[in-house]
Amino acid sequence: MSKHAIVSQILPFSCVDGPGSRLVIFLQGCNYQCKNCHNPHTISLCDACGDCVEHCPEQALTLMASQDALSYDIALQGAVVKEKSHIVWNSSLCSQCDTCLAVCPKKSTPKTSNYTIEQMLEVISSQRHFIDGITVSGGEASLQLPFVIELFKAIKSSEHLSHLNCMIDTNGSLPPTGWHKLLPFLDGAMVDLKAWQQDTHHYITGRDNHPVFKSIELLAQHHKLYEVRLLHIPGITDYDVEINALATYLQQLPSDTRVKLNAFHHHGVGQVASTWPQCTQADIEALASQLTQRGVSNIALPALYI
Ligand code: SF4
Ligand code: SF4
Repeated sequence: MSKHAIVSQILPFSCVDGPGSRLVIFLQGCNYQCKNCHNPHTISLCDACGDCVEHCPEQALTLMASQDALSYDIALQGAVVKEKSHIVWNSSLCSQCDTCLAVCPKKSTPKTSNYTIEQMLEVISSQRHFIDGITVSGGEASLQLPFVIELFKAIKSSEHLSHLNCMIDTNGSLPPTGWHKLLPFLDGAMVDLKAWQQDTHHYITGRDNHPVFKSIELLAQHHKLYEVRLLHIPGITDYDVEINALATYLQQLPSDTRVKLNAFHHHGVGQVASTWPQCTQADIEALASQLTQRGVSNIALPALYI
């Protein structure tokens, strides 16, 4: 049986998720609980509790038993059915008001879609003349690693798609065994280093950052580290207070690895992070200047600020 993925969104065209123009696939589910997550509804998988159904103003959501859900899908020709849950989302009725996201108590969404490899290849094929590659993102894309490996493998062996490069946008938590399975089909990775100190990283994400350092080093060794991303939250992330250690670390990475600085803003974040200071252009320029003075090159600044 073909592998499938739970997808929260497909962006047919992006120029900020890797080199050139890209189709971006956002996979549902994450193993971090970042206080500053801008899309918290992508963190959990829907458990079909049904709480959101009655709040939908368009009656686009239905809670059903599996057998019923299948018939309903056939009748509607296009409604999306969850394999392991009983929520049916009728995208043709949905007005994208996002009420279901606001009421979900589990940081999830009923608006996901299941894609087989073949279905995803069709979507990519329809865009192949307009893009340089594809990026899998999330959530945390590596949580659906078997699908990602099969998808990249299929692209590399396709007559029509093999010109596309295949990249992953990741929080760096994948263990080395997982990376070794993906590496033969991977062109590059963008890795978030969410804080330098262990305590700060744990406070922000709920997880340790040792695996992230391991991933960065492994990807660098295999010439697959396209970008390290630093999200600057003034007074919360510790890049400025740990500037010497951070700069020394970044300097020893391959010279073609980009260091992307991102500016924290409040859009979509939860209660705690909404009290944190937003990051201004001046904050980013000060951080960039401190890194440059210490010999870090290839720094990329945000395209947009608050
Ligand atoms: S999206 Fe949230 S509220 Fe709706 S059924 Fe799934 S878990 Fe329950
Ligand atoms: S976003 Fe769509 S499914 Fe969700 S509540 Fe609004 S209309 Fe209903």
